[in-house]
Amino acid sequence: MALRRKRLRSAPFPPEWRRIVESHCLFYERLPKPDRRELEGHIQVFLAEKKFEGCGGLEVNEEMKVCIAAHACLLLLHRKTDYYPDLKTVLVYPTAYVVPTTRHIGSGVFEESQQTRAGESWREGAVVLAWDAVLTGVRNPGSGYNVVFHEFAHQLDYEDGQADGAPLLGHGEPLIEQKRHYAEWSRIMKTEFEQLRARVNLGQHSVLSDYGATSPVEFFAVATECFFSKPVEMRQAHPELYEQMKWHYQQDPAQLGWHWPKTSVQ
Ligand SMILES: [Zn+2]
Repeated sequence: MALRRKRLRSAPFPPEWRRIVESHCLFYERLPKPDRRELEGHIQVFLAEKKFEGCGGLEVNEEMKVCIAAHACLLLLHRKTDYYPDLKTVLVYPTAYVVPTTRHIGSGVFEESQQTRAGESWREGAVVLAWDAVLTGVRNPGSGYNVVFHEFAHQLDYEDGQADGAPLLGHGEPLIEQKRHYAEWSRIMKTEFEQLRARVNLGQHSVLSDYGATSPVEFFAVATECFFSKPVEMRQAHPELYEQMKWHYQQDPAQLGWHWPKTSVQ
């Protein structure tokens, strides 16, 4: 497997794929050259190992695959990590899709409703994405909204076997170091999550999306979206959270000047 992946990473990157990355990932041109090459290598492994399935009549094309893979693989850059080991399939719907849900409203009474979703991350090997929602993130890179970053952050969260808002931390380091990382992570995340909840309750604006106040699990996914799409604002408003994400992702997008207007021209 290691040798196969090495071969995939060192194969020439198809020019057509590069054109897709350039036009769909504004961050690509701001990456240092070695990072671009690393990202391309990861994309090659990702596309060789993961299956894509179109849903709702959609035929998944190369543009969709490469665009999704590039965003997913940005989260892997510089890190000792596997390629989302539990993930087997990426399901793509043309637009936001409707899921029937049942909610217990008390005394054994259940309410059935329809929920519209732009994406989902399952622990059992699948990420679901609505292509129009993916494009919204692509066209508004500074908005803080990016469904691919969001759903793949959930996959990282699940990697340690638990959905708790903490991904694998200090993987491969001595146990005592890992414990220190988890303690630090949990202190900062808890504080920031509680602050966001308080702000949302007061109706105050934050650089982090309100959706992050839903749960610690959603907070990590929202913080990841924010880190890669509004890093300069995040570093300024939430320096401790930014530092923690910078350490986890081994990247410093604010330093690279990733700052885009909320709405782009595409
Ligand atoms: Zn989520």
